[in-house]
Order: sequence, then structure tokens, then C-alpha cells
Amino acid sequence: MRRTVFNEDHEAFRETIRAFIEAEVVPVHDDWYAAGQVPRDFYYKLAELGIFGIRVPEEYGGAGVDSHKFEAVMYEETARAGVSFGGSGVHVLLGLPYIQMLATDEQKRRYLPKFVTGEEMWALAMTEPGTGSDLAGMKTTAKRSADGSHYVLNGAKTFITGGVHADRVIVCARTSPPREDDRRFGISLFAVDTTSEGYSVGRKLDKLGLKVSDTAELAFTDVKVPAEDLLGEENAGFSYLGRNLPSERWGIAFGAYAQAKAAVRFAQQYVQERTVFGKPVAAFQNTKFELAACQAEVDAAEAVADRALEALDAGELTPAEAASAKLFCTEVAHRVIDRCLQLHGGYGFMNEYPIARLYADNRVNRIYGGTSEVMKSIIAKSMGL
Ligand SMILES: Cc1cc2nc3c(=O)[nH]c(=O)nc-3n(C[C@H](O)[C@H](O)[C@H](O)COP(=O)(O)OP(=O)(O)OC[C@H]3O[C@@H](n4cnc5c(N)ncnc54)[C@H](O)[C@@H]3O)c2cc1C
Repeated sequence: MRRTVFNEDHEAFRETIRAFIEAEVVPVHDDWYAAGQVPRDFYYKLAELGIFGIRVPEEYGGAGVDSHKFEAVMYEETARAGVSFGGSGVHVLLGLPYIQMLATDEQKRRYLPKFVTGEEMWALAMTEPGTGSDLAGMKTTAKRSADGSHYVLNGAKTFITGGVHADRVIVCARTSPPREDDRRFGISLFAVDTTSEGYSVGRKLDKLGLKVSDTAELAFTDVKVPAEDLLGEENAGFSYLGRNLPSERWGIAFGAYAQAKAAVRFAQQYVQERTVFGKPVAAFQNTKFELAACQAEVDAAEAVADRALEALDAGELTPAEAASAKLFCTEVAHRVIDRCLQLHGGYGFMNEYPIARLYADNRVNRIYGGTSEVMKSIIAKSMGL
């Protein structure tokens, strides 16, 4: 079926990204993998390519394109090449929507130019050691000073993507206790400067996959956050999270579909090259059936991911639809990548093969941005169950 989401501009961007990956990423990606992160300077290269500014209004140095399609192309191309751009995905996918939705003009003038140039990398800190799915249970607090000039932040966050390199982190904290009839009340969002006194980055976490992305623990001890860095209304943070989670979930859904598509490509190549019992692995009927079944699943996931992309761009992607797209695409990717790895035999288990890294990287798609179980809860609720 003909795909209709991308036009000539997107395809031209695809060529640029593909060439950039080939020249700037592939030769050094193994070093990044071993180091467990990309060098900070790499983000300046992405900025020079214009990646961070695509959706930022021109007055702040961006291209002012109100669409996620260029990001979608980037997901496809990084997956296709079996590489990662480190924690930079959260800068645009998680950081930008909050600035766009909540920042005042004064805040936009302060934040966005440095966002576009990569001078200030952003991350989002919701999860805490004691609470992930149940965000209303967060314990980090931000107490307003008597004169209202600042807040004092105390607490800890964990699993924060981009947390090692981040220059500004959107921290979710309790500014008021929950109400008896509304546990979600009382959470506020702050754009915290990571050079503030009392802000510390703990361990860079050792993960099963996503080795190239810096995932960190953060701790706050009496961090003074200027009132000018409060994002949106005090105590209304939970509703903001609810409004932005659909775009995050679309990103995970689309990235997972792109990984599944890449897995089929890797397996298709491998089975033609590998000879077993005197013939290529591709010659076995089982191989053909496995890859055909995987392709059919990828086609379905692509259709869902594309439709969700169109709906997101149109401002129509509902929380339940985003949950449904994330659930479907990540579960497809899980099945497809596993079957494609199987066709690689023992080599599929070796990290030097992209399918092995893909297998490890993909696992978290069913967990972060809300687990598959949480996605099912959201969908069930929308069905009146
Ligand atoms: C690599 C990585 C990167 C991450 N990046 C970020 C980031 O940048 N920023 C950030 O804030 N967070 C980040 N996270 C956190 C991520 O969003 C959470 O891990 C996720 O939401 C799950 O929370 P949890 O780990 O506390 O699991 P828990 O909430 O403890 O869940 C444990 C189990 O209980 C199940 N469960 C929970 N609630 C229900 C329910 N209502 N019904 C049925 N089952 C349920 C879950 O599905 C799961 O199987 C990241 C996590 C990882 C692993």
C-alpha cells in the first residue's frame, strides 16, 4: 500500500539524515556504545543540522514547522542504521511540548534560543524511586518561599533519560498536599537549571539496552528554583502531564514500529548470506513464513503509527488512541524483533550484530512512557470499563 504521510521535503530530509548517520555516527557508534553515552559535542552537530529547531517558531531560531513528521523520519533512519542519537530524543519529544504549551513569552525568550542551538539540553523528570506508574504518589516537594520569589526543591528522581547531560530538567514536584477527592492535585512543573546549588546527578544507570543513552538518578537538596522557572499554573502539573503524554507515547510507538521494520531488514539480509546444511537460511520454508508473518505485522504497525502521526499533527490524538498505538506497536516490535533474532541463530545473541542491540533496546518500549498494563487501563477506561 502506498504510504501517504511523507512528502518530498521529508524524503529530502531522509537523505540528509541518512548521509549524516553514515558520515558522523556509524564510524564512532561502537565507541559511544562502550562509553555508555554520546559525547556532549554530538548534540551541537544535531543542532547544526537543525534537528532541535524544526518545531520551534522562527522568532526563537527554529524552522517553525508544526509537524512531527521530520522526527518520524529520524526514528526510521536511526533504526534502519542500527544507531542511536543518545538521550537527545527526549530533548525534543519530551521537553519541547511543555515549553510550547506552558512557557510565557518571557520564558520562551529565555529557553528556546538555547534549546535550538543545543546549548541547553532538556530532560523530563517524573519518575521517582518509589513511584513510576502511580505518578500522583510522588514525594519530591517544592516549597514556595515566604516572599514568593523562589521554591525550595527536595527529593529524588530516577530513570531520567538524558539526565547526565541535561542542562535544564522539567522536574515534577508536589507544591501542595493532595486533596481528599483528588490525589492528582498539588503537583507543579519546574524548568530546573542543573547547575543550581544542591542539584546533583547520581549514578549513570547500567541498563539492559539503550546503552548509548544516558539514564540517570537525580537528587535535589534545598535547590532554590526561581519562581520565574515555574511552568504553567502552580498545582496543575498533573493535567499538563496528561496532555503531553500522548505525544511521548506516539514517539515510542513510532520508534518501536521503526525498530521492527529495521529488524526485518536485518534478518532478510542475514538469512540470504548465512548458509546452513548447504543452502542459505532463506531457502527454508520456515524462514520465509517467519519473515512473511513479521512483514505483515510491520505493515499493520506502520499503518497504526502513521495514522497516529497524522492525528498528532492535527492535534486530535486522544490519550486512549495514543495508548492504543503504543500498546500495539511496541507489542508488535517485541514479537517481530524476537523472531528476527531467532533467524540469526547464535549470532543474533552477539552485540556486534545490530539485531542483538535492537532486541535489548526495544525491551523498554513496553515499560517506559507508561507500561503496557497502564496503556490497557487507559484504553479500558475510554471504553467505559
Ligand atoms: C530506560 C528508561 C528510561 C526512562 N526514562 C524516563 C524519563 O526520562 N523520565 C521519567 O520521568 N521516567 C523515565 N522512565 C521511567 C518509566 O516511565 C517508568 O519506569 C514506568 O512508567 C514504570 O514505572 P516503574 O518503573 O515505577 O514501575 P511500577 O509502576 O513499579 O510497575 C511495576 C509493575 O506493575 C504494573 N502496574 C502498575 N500499575 C498497574 C495497574 N494499574 N494495573 C496493572 N498493573 C500495573 C506495571 O505495569 C509493571 O508491570 C524511564 C524508564 C526506563 C527503564
